[in-house]
Amino acid sequence: MIGSIEFGERAVRKASKRMSTKAIYPGTFDPITRGHIDLAERASQLFTEVVVAIAASPTKQPLFLLDERLEMAKLSLKHIDNISVIGFDGLLIDSVRAEHAQVVLRGLRAVSDFEYEFQLAAMNRRLDSVIETMFLTPSEHYTFLSASMVKEIASHGGDVSQFLHPEVNERLIQRLQG
Ligand code: ADP
Repeated sequence: MIGSIEFGERAVRKASKRMSTKAIYPGTFDPITRGHIDLAERASQLFTEVVVAIAASPTKQPLFLLDERLEMAKLSLKHIDNISVIGFDGLLIDSVRAEHAQVVLRGLRAVSDFEYEFQLAAMNRRLDSVIETMFLTPSEHYTFLSASMVKEIASHGGDVSQFLHPEVNERLIQRLQG
């Protein structure tokens, strides 16, 4: 009995040590949606620190400048105290190392995400075998949600306010009108 209590305490100590982990959540976030926010909230419960890393992604021709995406992510995530937001240009793995993070976090919405994410995780493991990729799924309300779909609907005058922080929704409308 005593043995099993000791075992339990040791297990808890080990578990808390294991979970003392910094995760990087990379993406384009053009703009940040409630799907991204949902994932960031879940991650903030699991990891000691979460860094949302916004890729410049010039080849994707983002609608918003990197600085604008950073601002929108910061205001959408300001209710989470163990989250910070950074921008990066270049190799993700370099930012992971610079931040001393151990985990790359990605979201999986549907099976269609899997192939690309699987390749990305394998490539990142080739580049640095110590860094692990972990996946979280969002609430079922957001499994269909993507920033590109939000932009598409908004560009046709559709109401996407339920998918974005109110300020981000305003900025999206302004950008599409301007
Ligand atoms: P990328 O341009 O690299 O695909 P995104 O900005 O679209 O990046 O998304 C960043 C990460 O967030 C990806 O792992 C993506 O799967 C995840 N993600 C995007 N939308 C959602 C959502 N609705 N629910 C959960 N994860 C999401």
